[in-house]
Formats: sequence, structure tokens, C-alpha cells
Amino acid sequence: MPRTTTAYTTLDLDGLGKQVGFVAIPHSPHDDGWGHVRIPMAVIANGSGPTVILQGGNHGDEYEGPIALGELIRELDPGEIEGRLIVLPAFNAPAVEAGRRVSPVDGLNLNRTYPGDPVGSLTQQITAYASDHLFPIADAFIDLHSGGSSLHMIPSAIVEPAPTREHLARNVAAVRAFGAPMIVVIDNLGDPRTSTATSVRANLTTVGTELGGGGTVSRDALEICRRGLRNLLAHFGVIDGSVSAPTDGDIRAIPGPKGFVFADAAGVFESFHDLGAEVRAGQDAGSVHSLTRPDLPPQILKFGADGIVYGRRQPGRVVPGNCCLVVAAPYEGELP
Ligand code: CA
Repeated sequence: MPRTTTAYTTLDLDGLGKQVGFVAIPHSPHDDGWGHVRIPMAVIANGSGPTVILQGGNHGDEYEGPIALGELIRELDPGEIEGRLIVLPAFNAPAVEAGRRVSPVDGLNLNRTYPGDPVGSLTQQITAYASDHLFPIADAFIDLHSGGSSLHMIPSAIVEPAPTREHLARNVAAVRAFGAPMIVVIDNLGDPRTSTATSVRANLTTVGTELGGGGTVSRDALEICRRGLRNLLAHFGVIDGSVSAPTDGDIRAIPGPKGFVFADAAGVFESFHDLGAEVRAGQDAGSVHSLTRPDLPPQILKFGADGIVYGRRQPGRVVPGNCCLVVAAPYEGELP
């Protein structure tokens, strides 16, 4: 029995050609009794072929994906494709409008709200729409993230773990086709509330990315994203052409909690290493300086795993628990 919903769309999900409109989530704040929030969506369909959901703006301060998806909506002619694309360039639209990771409406991180709640808060209603109305009609899901305001990341394509070898093989093949400089398996410490964990539970072939970050637009990462989207559409057989420069190198993974370096004190974080540096467990990672207690020496943070520096905090200020550095280690699981 499907869950009830008040969300609706201006588009015909079964229609052919190119439609650009929105999903409406009714929203009734002080100044708008019967209004709604609009989640932009395009449906581009022709012939027969797989249904691929392309999403950006899951977090509102990660820009390469939304830019590249807007270009794709404008450029793609339905006659070029075989299949159906459901394109959501600004999925958490209120967060995208605000340029913030989380929604200014309910304060929620969309990527920690799946499977959503169709009668919950606004963000929960957005993710419920994806869970109940989009994932069930799709074959593949691409979730385009960047590092956001708080992290710089090495541009990379992300493998979401899957429960069967067959499904993991599909995810890895698609991630390789994207063609990012690096591939990382990220399980978010097993968190089931992310979009990619949810799409895997729905049996979709799933690809994630981390493209640049720092709350700005990286032209290099944007170019990787543009090429990666075309590569994925070719990989899935939605557009003609071959995959250019797939990633055939090693696969890395964030090795659980020891892959993260967290601040243990309040102050300003100084990283001792740049992105891409080779590091060892036990090595000094950086220091936290107290600017208001010059009598105190800085606190030294250590790496907990061998690998390369994959992510680095952007803001200088830290409090205990803030993520300062992320290490990507060689992937030790069995790959199909
Ligand atoms: Ca993100």
C-alpha cells in the first residue's frame, strides 16, 4: 500500500519528449497559506531504454552537479536518447536557494532523512517523494555531490556498497564509466538514511560523486562532471557513443571511523598535509591552535589509517568533533 502524499508534479512521468517543470511540495508558512515549494525537475524521454535519475543539490552548497545538470537539460534533444532521464538539478531547492548544506525550512540535512516521511517536515516530504514515486520507476541513480562549504575533496566517483556481488558489479562498472580521477567506496559508516543507500535498497545501479568543494565552483571538477554525465549516459545505452577515459585504476575506501581525523579541542585547525599526500597511521596530521591562550601549545592530531589525504576541512575554526581530514585507504573488500 503506497504511503499517502500531498506532493504532486506538473510533469507527465510517462510522457515523451522534453518536459521541464517541478515537483510541488505543499508548504503553508505564515505568509503563504496554500503555497508550495517547487523542486525543479525535467523528464526527457524517447523510445525504449532505461530510466536514469540524475540528481544535484542534495546539499545546497555543492555546485558542479547542479550546473552540469542544468546544461544537460538545455542541451539534450529527446531524439538523441533511448530511454528516460529524470533530472533533478536542485533537489533540496530551499537549501540550494540558500546556498547551504541543510534546509533553511526545517534545518534538516536531506541526505540523512531517507526514506523520508510524506506527512513529515518539508525535507522529509521531498525524500519521501523520491522513495515512493521516483526510485520505484528507475533503473539507475546518480547523486552528484561536492565537498560543500566545510570540505575540499579530491574529485572522485563514489561506489555505494551493495548487498550482492551482481549489484556491486553494476555500481562499480558505472562508477568506472563516469571517469573521475579517483574511485572511493564510501559507506557513510553504514548510515541507511542517504539517497545512495536508499537507491541501492531499491535495486538501482547507483553512482555518487565528490567533486571539489569549499562552497565554490571548481572548473576542473565541473569538466569532470560534464564528461562523467555523458559517459554514464553512454554506459547505460541512453545516448550513442563510447565512454571516454573510464577510470581503470585502483579503488580506495574510507576505512571506517579511523579514516577521519577529528578535532579534540576548540581553536583553529592547521593541516600538515595537502590533498593527495601519502600518510601513515600514527603520523602527525595537523594541529589545533588556541588563539586566545597563547600560553598553551597546539594540540597535535594524528592519522588513524594509512592512505592518502582525500578530504580537508575548509573553515579554520574547529570545535571538538569537527571533521578535519579524511583518509582514503586501499579498498580491502573483494571486488566483483
Ligand atoms: Ca555532499
